[in-house]
Amino acid sequence: MTQTQPSDRESGRCINCQQEVSTPYCPQCGQPYPAERMSVGHVLADFQGRPYGTRGLFLRTIKDLTVKPGEVVRAYVMGNRVLYNRPVGYFLLMITIMLIVASVLQIDYVTFLQVSSISADGLNDHQAELNKYVLQFISSNIKLISLALIPFQAFIARYLFFRKSDFSYLDHTVLPFYLEGHLNLVTIISLIGFRVAGFYIPFWFTTILTLIYFGFGYTGFIVHQSKIKSFFKGVGIFIVSQLVVAIISLIAGFLYILNHPEILEMMKKK
Ligand SMILES: [Zn+2]
Repeated sequence: MTQTQPSDRESGRCINCQQEVSTPYCPQCGQPYPAERMSVGHVLADFQGRPYGTRGLFLRTIKDLTVKPGEVVRAYVMGNRVLYNRPVGYFLLMITIMLIVASVLQIDYVTFLQVSSISADGLNDHQAELNKYVLQFISSNIKLISLALIPFQAFIARYLFFRKSDFSYLDHTVLPFYLEGHLNLVTIISLIGFRVAGFYIPFWFTTILTLIYFGFGYTGFIVHQSKIKSFFKGVGIFIVSQLVVAIISLIAGFLYILNHPEILEMMKKK
């Protein structure tokens, strides 16, 4: 599928299976006809709706997001609604599955974060308490925190790195929803490894994997320039959006501490 291909309205064929269509839905596969690009309404509906679809659909989404994430994003953005789970639904579903796995394995998510990401070595009791406080906040707001990155990433992709692509801001939200959602698989594998063998995937490894995965995702999504260019822009988008969110979090944290001086006391060394 390319951006220059004639629309299904011109060809009179379903964008998913190429069947000739004249009805609002393809008689063969159920794809809406004509295919519509994204709107705010679609995104909001996806937020409210429960993730639905068959097991086959879900397994195909998982498999293809692993081997060809950019093509999954592209299919959705170009209007295909029957091939994969929808991006917001998939994102929320994967976080939910991750939390269910943690709960079934009886792993305290805060302890897991403490072990796998942020070293608590060399902290005094008060700092360890603060560390735990922050991790508890992350743990109980995990959906919101993962979600917070997405508007920034889409904005940076649309207005900084891929200004010339003809994708809208909303189109650019699809990739981070799918890819952020999919990366929960790494956490799920790590949680299982942690329970079974006391092994976990180290933070640095997840970070490198995430960068490569995002770069790879953009090579399949943005096809009007070379894959190498798209790859490094994808990596750049992820790094810049992380930085922006980190700076905003620091400012927010600073303002919070100003209003809660007792936390400042906790941070001071004995
Ligand atoms: Zn069809």
